[in-house]
Amino acid sequence: MKIESSPIKYTLGENKSPLTYKIHFILADEKDNPLLAGFQDQWKSGKFRGESKQKFVDETSKTIFLGLGKPENLPLRNLAGMFIELGKNLRKLEGVGYEIFLRQEITSHYDCERLVYQIVNSIDLGYFDIRVLATKDQEKKKPGSVSFQTEEISIDKKILSGIKKAQAVSKQVNGARYIAHLPSNYFRPQEFEERSREIAKDHKLKITVFNEPQLKKMGMNGILAVSRGTDNAGKMIILDYNPPGAKKTFAIVGKGLTFDTGGISLKPSAEMHEMKYDMCGASATIHAIAAIASLKTKIRVVAAIGTAENMPDGRAYKPGDVYTAYNGLTVEVQNTDAEGRLVLGDVLSYVCDKIKPDYMVDLATLTGAAIMALGHETAAVLSKNEEFIAKIKQASELSDDRVWELPLWDEYGEGLKSDIADLRNIAGGKGAGTISAGIFLSHFVDKDIPWAHLDIAGTAWRKKGSGTQTNGPTGYGVRLLVELAEILSR
Ligand SMILES: [Zn+2]
Repeated sequence: MKIESSPIKYTLGENKSPLTYKIHFILADEKDNPLLAGFQDQWKSGKFRGESKQKFVDETSKTIFLGLGKPENLPLRNLAGMFIELGKNLRKLEGVGYEIFLRQEITSHYDCERLVYQIVNSIDLGYFDIRVLATKDQEKKKPGSVSFQTEEISIDKKILSGIKKAQAVSKQVNGARYIAHLPSNYFRPQEFEERSREIAKDHKLKITVFNEPQLKKMGMNGILAVSRGTDNAGKMIILDYNPPGAKKTFAIVGKGLTFDTGGISLKPSAEMHEMKYDMCGASATIHAIAAIASLKTKIRVVAAIGTAENMPDGRAYKPGDVYTAYNGLTVEVQNTDAEGRLVLGDVLSYVCDKIKPDYMVDLATLTGAAIMALGHETAAVLSKNEEFIAKIKQASELSDDRVWELPLWDEYGEGLKSDIADLRNIAGGKGAGTISAGIFLSHFVDKDIPWAHLDIAGTAWRKKGSGTQTNGPTGYGVRLLVELAEILSR
């Protein structure tokens, strides 16, 4: 379960790769730039005018021009898609490299460290091939290197730190994508433990694994109920990064259903194979703590995941069953496909009880309703703490892992009343399933802990890439959590 680094080397100065393409950025108002001397026809015809996301390749001079748009509107996210594509191209031809020119005219519009971070991160994500189990027709060729050329020596340091941060983060985003993409006969709760142990070893983190006998003793009956129909026993895994000088504790909780059939409330078969992705919250959680530890961010981070498999079976839990959760609440199971919240409920209340964090988020592919509401461009974020939401939005802007706020008003939880127990696990009726799921989770969180729930059902994987997100598993959340930990550490 080793986590692979990208093989692409990033350097400063001239590029000696055998097949190097020069990359120039062009603004929409740079018609008379001498770099375009031979390409005025393209400009006149509109084929390349430096507009945002426009690309023009001149094979004769091995030059790629990338349009940035109007100087007053240059969001970094526009660069991501272009460099994800350029990263993909590196695996098509042996030894292809890039020499990226950062003219002063361009760098003056950006925070140079973030500019380089975005470029390197996107190339690494593009280079990663999601056909991880394919043995034939692999187009994965050995890449050349990527270098940055500047006009000012003063920004060299910023470029180098942008490269360093991007490499630490992209390694973990791709790591999260890799395990997310593995099917459930390759990746089960047992493999989650192996992967977590690998991360603990790499970054010298404390790890605690709770298996069935301990979970029974502790009364974590949510995880146990969900796991009853499978031979792949559920687990709770906790990684702890506690650097010297850390003043605050930030807890990240992840849903890790390595496969979700829906259980006795069986899902329709058409898209069921996609339910191997039901562990993307936990996958992002353990790789985010790895990235945060490698960046040495000064905050204690506790990553806690609940991992299980939801299967129908003679022993499986059934609609109507009532179980007692870790925090003592009795829960009536009305639908065995609303299992993620049962697993998360136990983990959230355990973390509140034993870790007492200053901040807590959870990431979960929790509801199809999140996809209905927001599609694949943004995750839903729900919290009662305005200040904490503001910080998450700030981290979202820096990382381009987008979030959109939905209300967490108690009125949405009316349907969670049970006529036999404290709570039932679905609200019933139509509409606002993402919000009632959030309200359900809130019953397992201490009121005085700033907590936010992120429903990543729409962003964890996608058929077509967009913005900073690739196609396939996206690793959504790793970059967001890296920025959020940084903000919370201040
Ligand atoms: Zn489910």
